[in-house]
Amino acid sequence: MKHDKVLERARGKFERRQVDKLAAAIDFASRAHKGQKRLTGEPFIRHPLAVADTLIEWEMDIDSIVAGILHDTVEDTDSTIEDIEAQFGRNVAFLVNGVTKLGQIRKGMREIDTYLPQTKDNLAKLLIATGQDIRVVIIKIADRLHNLETLNSLSKSKQQKIAMESLRVFAPLADRLNMGQVRVRLEEISFQYLNNERFNFLKKQLKKRVGSASHRLDSVKQEVEAELKKQKIKYEMDGRTKSVYSLHKKLDKYEQDFDRIYDLIALRIVVGSEDDCYKVLGILHHLFIPMEGRVKDYISRPKANGYRSLHTTVQSYDENDEELFVEFQIRTHEMHEFAERGLAAGFHYNEQKLTDIYKSGGQISGLPEGMNWVADLHKTAERLQAGEEVDIKKLQMKLFSDRIFVYTPSGDIFDLPEGALPLDFAFRLHTDIGKTTHSVKVNGQIVGFDEPLHTGDVIEVITRSGILPKLDWIKKVITPRARTKIRAQLRKEGVHVPANESQQKPAKKT
Ligand code: MN
Repeated sequence: MKHDKVLERARGKFERRQVDKLAAAIDFASRAHKGQKRLTGEPFIRHPLAVADTLIEWEMDIDSIVAGILHDTVEDTDSTIEDIEAQFGRNVAFLVNGVTKLGQIRKGMREIDTYLPQTKDNLAKLLIATGQDIRVVIIKIADRLHNLETLNSLSKSKQQKIAMESLRVFAPLADRLNMGQVRVRLEEISFQYLNNERFNFLKKQLKKRVGSASHRLDSVKQEVEAELKKQKIKYEMDGRTKSVYSLHKKLDKYEQDFDRIYDLIALRIVVGSEDDCYKVLGILHHLFIPMEGRVKDYISRPKANGYRSLHTTVQSYDENDEELFVEFQIRTHEMHEFAERGLAAGFHYNEQKLTDIYKSGGQISGLPEGMNWVADLHKTAERLQAGEEVDIKKLQMKLFSDRIFVYTPSGDIFDLPEGALPLDFAFRLHTDIGKTTHSVKVNGQIVGFDEPLHTGDVIEVITRSGILPKLDWIKKVITPRARTKIRAQLRKEGVHVPANESQQKPAKKT
């Protein structure tokens, strides 16, 4: 990506003064990264330029795009946040700072397997809270997307690590923001690196099956179109093919049986109003036989990420009278835009909406109910930017209710219940680590086993072979997992464990 290309693109969308700001940022970053090269051999500046270009494509606001240009300057060059604030203002500096901090959290992550799937949603929230402004996360996603797209030049092990992290952390994050297109891109590239053989196999299968299916769909399509015209409903219809990765996941769920997957192709009908969505559903169910249990009304009950649409799978027959199942997705243009672009869509066609998010109590029309936490974060972000004191802890409490987030020295994140103690963490890492814990360092200092952990703590567990759990360890854990493991081990050693010992709650320190 060349800088004049990016500027040219920006010129089409922004005022002159904003383009000037972008040009100044490109200048600043070019000087800062001067002489640096990416592993691809390209000048480093191509990377932030590509990130900014993606952000323009996503129709983000100018400050996000400027921050996209500057996003690696603090981390990788001599430039400071103060330099950036002086030249580009508080808002840009705030965003760059957020991206830098997010990068630091993620840095050094080795044991990706410690990312438990069930924590992914909390993890997404954590990243967003750390970024403090949803735009920080969107910039980070654009950054990650480009890193994935240029993964080829890295070593095999780095490829695996980045692909795995993208699949487990960034794709769910994009999903949380309902950025459907981006999620699919992240998943497809990652999966291609993680399991190339499977990717290629499924891709071939998909092509073969979709090829014959789309031909078979023609008659169904025609039938639907004729009826929609008759009923004078304005519509756009197209087909979407299932992505390789989502096919992979579904096949795993259905014993690798392709015939149980009905949505290799889904027909999408986009109409003008909510009313029309339900009308179309009625028409489809009149024309074909709806499959039981496969009618989903995500309009009246949106998904947690704000996704809205009606889904139904119907049974029909193709021209050879063979049974044919077709999934339909029915939505309005707005719902469609939001499903594809997610939260970035808010920046796209309604910057006012954002301002509303900042200002309202989170009760704005247009922002789906499940996304209200985003509004909370935006409000906080605005207050932070205005220089107001904000109790981040309070915000975190609200978001994570009663979980704390702690790190291993290599940067892996674990969530634990509030009040968790060092041995809870040790057993959370691994039973064998827990059992042989000699001592625990929190933020570099050795602490007692009864010292509660806090969000942000970096914890190192020092083990010694030959160590065995002691009876009083039971009083020094609060998680059922650790307690069970300790009891089991004690019993194995023939230690009598009084029942009440395990019932005891830890003394809560304040
Ligand atoms: Mn970067």
